[in-house]
Amino acid sequence: MAELPEIELFKEKLQRIILHKKLGKLRQLNAKGEQSAEAGGLGEDALLGKEITDIQRYGTQIFWELDRREILALQLGGELAMELERGFPVAGDEGRAGLEIAINANLRLRLQGAQLGTRLRLLNEDSDVDFLTRLGPDPILVPKPGLESLRESLARRRSALRNVLLDDGFVTGIGPIWADEILFQARLRPDRLVPTLDEDDRQRLCEQIRQVLERALRSQAKIPLLPRTFLTRHREDGHCPACGGALEQISVGGRMAVFCPSCQL
Ligand SMILES: [Zn+2]
Repeated sequence: MAELPEIELFKEKLQRIILHKKLGKLRQLNAKGEQSAEAGGLGEDALLGKEITDIQRYGTQIFWELDRREILALQLGGELAMELERGFPVAGDEGRAGLEIAINANLRLRLQGAQLGTRLRLLNEDSDVDFLTRLGPDPILVPKPGLESLRESLARRRSALRNVLLDDGFVTGIGPIWADEILFQARLRPDRLVPTLDEDDRQRLCEQIRQVLERALRSQAKIPLLPRTFLTRHREDGHCPACGGALEQISVGGRMAVFCPSCQL
């Protein structure tokens, strides 16, 4: 599962390791290790020899600037495993399906998950970037005064809080785990409807979006390093870290959310 804190940490790792390196072959392999359809309409040699001149992130998208001219956009959210592997392919590697981009002679970015071909786009100045203009603010990049516009945008919504948090048009990049955590820290139920919130509730929720993600980043998004007061640490044992009561699951918009029925109103 790749959500925003994990993707931010992965971007920082890429910045440390692959900046100014050159790209090699692009391969999309099926389960037999054979080249399958072209990824994002790009052939095997489409990226060959291009230098990564900058790396940025917005929401779940990571952008590699290539030769200061083009942008390779990688969409990393949802059910996806992403790894930066060193060394040459070893025996047994060939059986693994996935998308691979060779970097210099001895590194490979490997993505595994569904619909990999649609996760890659090569953009130049003439490209259609509609998919980016539809995204809401990035909650890690948004400056603190930006909270006000987030609060106003929230006040215009009508649906359940958890669905709003998962909506890329409200804030981009929040997935189910961190949406549950934000709602727990804000003491609001996942199925609570936005119009029932007062101004304090809206303020608290918007503040927690940023605070929870910042805390997750400081903990390297590793569950044992999170504060004990975080719900995420207790999804397995099922006990609320605030009141000790049993956590419950509820379906909101067809997706299961975890919450504490005593602490979240
Ligand atoms: Zn509780």
